[in-house]
Amino acid sequence: MKTILLVDDSRAVRLTARRMLTEIGCIVLEAEDGQQALQVLREHPETDAVLLDWNMPVMDGISMLKALKADAAMPQPHVVMCTTENDMSRILEAIAAGAVEYIMKPFTDEILREKLQDAGVL
Ligand SMILES: [Mg+2]
Repeated sequence: MKTILLVDDSRAVRLTARRMLTEIGCIVLEAEDGQQALQVLREHPETDAVLLDWNMPVMDGISMLKALKADAAMPQPHVVMCTTENDMSRILEAIAAGAVEYIMKPFTDEILREKLQDAGVL
């Protein structure tokens, strides 16, 4: 079973994604912002992948991704950026920072499964 950390400030998005991931047999962890996500990763080094929202209070997705990659002591799960931004430069920024895939919101069960497969998570 794969463990996926959902990071999104929207409770509705977390609920929807949790349902999708539970249906395909994943264990789901949640965080509301980047700072919480780093804490959850310290507590759950077994995490296989992070679905990471871009726009969040406290610490946004790109800042969390950069902080994660800069810290050699942290576990390094695959990071899939989830965003409503369709600005290609932002996506390239996330890929350059170490994200392995990106998903545009809103996404379907099928897209989520495909992207996790593409990222080598499933
Ligand atoms: Mg958000």
